Amino acid sequence: MGNFLEKIFLLELFKGMGVVFKHVFIKPVTRMYPFEKPVLPNSSRGLHTLMRDADTGNERCVGCSLCVKICPSGVIHMVTSKGEMNQKRIDEYEIDISRCAFCGLCVDICPKSAIVMSDRFELAVYDRKNLSYNKNLLLKIGEVKQKESKEKGKDK
Ligand code: SF4
Ligand code: SF4
Repeated sequence: MGNFLEKIFLLELFKGMGVVFKHVFIKPVTRMYPFEKPVLPNSSRGLHTLMRDADTGNERCVGCSLCVKICPSGVIHMVTSKGEMNQKRIDEYEIDISRCAFCGLCVDICPKSAIVMSDRFELAVYDRKNLSYNKNLLLKIGEVKQKESKEKGKDK
């Protein structure tokens, strides 16, 4: 009988309309990505960057190869040579992001905090070849990251 009355008076329909009406006044939780970017935590693992010393502007990387050795995916490629005063010069440094597991081991092992991860996560490209980042590109991304950190008052 209850079921019959519910059908006659379209109770379910009114209940549904009530839910819709209630949500007209509730603030939407939908994020309008990509127009609205999410604020990521500092611990997020995005694209790698190579950093420079904040005071001297010199590259922090000393070419120790620890990041190359620890990388489980073997995606870091580095070529060094002898520079002035027998210091190592980093001629090539490349990361193939297409095979990177974003495990962060390269960052953890680096004794100079030369390689860090940024909050860049929109890395989609049409050609896989464009997922190889060379030294100049990684340094440029690092410069942007350092500038942003400075503006936020937390220079690293
Ligand atoms: S995040 Fe992990 S997989 Fe990616 S380059 Fe670093 S060590 Fe290799
Ligand atoms: S571990 Fe750090 S200092 Fe050593 S080669 Fe890698 S990025 Fe450079």
